Amino acid sequence: MDLRFFVFVFIFSVYFICDFPGIYGERNDEDMTIKTMEEFSGYPIHEPDYANSLSSLSVNSDTLQKQIDELATFSDSLAPSVTRILYSEKDVLARRYIKDLMKLSGLSVREDAVGNIFGRWNGDEPELAPVSTGSHVDAIPYSGKYDGVVGVLGAIEAINVLKRSGFKPKRSLEVIMFTSEEPTRFGISCLGSRLLAGIVQLAEQLKSTKDSHNVSFSDAAKSAGYANAKGDLSEVFLKEGTYSAFVELHIEQGPILEKEGVSIGVVTAIAAPASIKVTFEGNGGHAGAALMPERNDAGLAAAELALAVEKHVLDSGSVDTVGTVGILTLHPGAINSIPSMAHLEIDTRDIDESRRNLVIEKIHQSALGIAKKRKVILSEFEIVNQDPPAPSDESITKATESACQELNLTHKKMISRAYHDSLFMARVSPMGMIFIPCYKGYSHKPEEFSSVDDIANGVKVLALTLAKLSLS
Ligand SMILES: [Zn+2]
Repeated sequence: MDLRFFVFVFIFSVYFICDFPGIYGERNDEDMTIKTMEEFSGYPIHEPDYANSLSSLSVNSDTLQKQIDELATFSDSLAPSVTRILYSEKDVLARRYIKDLMKLSGLSVREDAVGNIFGRWNGDEPELAPVSTGSHVDAIPYSGKYDGVVGVLGAIEAINVLKRSGFKPKRSLEVIMFTSEEPTRFGISCLGSRLLAGIVQLAEQLKSTKDSHNVSFSDAAKSAGYANAKGDLSEVFLKEGTYSAFVELHIEQGPILEKEGVSIGVVTAIAAPASIKVTFEGNGGHAGAALMPERNDAGLAAAELALAVEKHVLDSGSVDTVGTVGILTLHPGAINSIPSMAHLEIDTRDIDESRRNLVIEKIHQSALGIAKKRKVILSEFEIVNQDPPAPSDESITKATESACQELNLTHKKMISRAYHDSLFMARVSPMGMIFIPCYKGYSHKPEEFSSVDDIANGVKVLALTLAKLSLS
């Protein structure tokens, strides 16, 4: 950490944590804080001239890039890769870093029982439902430093941008850092936002969930400072109407914006995934001795089903329907043994829920038909999850589009084929997403990259979108 920045962070962590009573009275304390903050940060914290227009939004790109780089050092793998697993020591350090930055930006910080972190800037009418924004900072093993991070650090910088411009929010603005968007530790993706969305089964399930080292969810949470995760997790649920809007800034994780040279993606819908587990069982046997007519090869049944998945997806006639067999394992897995068991895991997604569900039904019919034809047993056909897709709210996409126009940035409407915390926030709040280009669409690997200019554009658009929504 740059020494100057370290001192800056330290002084203001101490200031905000201790909340000095102040012998000079409140006003003097604030003046001193501003003076010192300005000295260390190099930019004016409060611009007294509120006549400043929002069109002059300026992002402190160097500081933001430095923060992205610093956050990446809280990693359990060597740079340039990033590994940051839920409730690990590095995750706790990253959480502290985010909370400190929120405090430095003057946000009031709170955390819920599972460690979703909220930083609020009170608006002039704090009784109105706030506008929220945010993303995640956990990272799957050996991934990159931008996925999620841009939507958290970028959101804090968007608040700074608005403060520097002299903007006064009407609705409060809130930055959220979601717990465990990635499923790495407990096999549950978007854990924090699913709970915020009020999924009762998950709150129940977490009471008995363990990681691969047999550490329970509540013990892991406790070790990270969240002892209340042992209790009733329904206290985490958000009431519908808690927020008037939720907007997430994220790297595209796809190649379209970069390829087309477009600065901003305005997400109109998030495709929702379904996943299915399938197991076929046959008799197996010796690869030389068992003759072909006598066989009931579970491996071939699985291979036929994999091709059927592709056919049903293509038959939908829409490019938005996708299906993938990402796991196909054969038992016993020897070259001279006919597979006696085959296990497949299928991921299928669409922005049209009924079209995707029709694909799932066709896959099921194919599995039954293939089992019958090949005389194998379909011993498992489990739909693991079948989430509905989420359309963005028009008021948010419109605000983002006009922000792009006012900032003179090219933009295009697009679908998010990956899913995000926004998918679950959409259940309790109007939702929207802002995408920025990333190098070759790479994500979840160390080569993941977004340029500082692209990030700054995203932050500006986010800031202006938040400002518009705050005043609505
Ligand atoms: Zn992400």
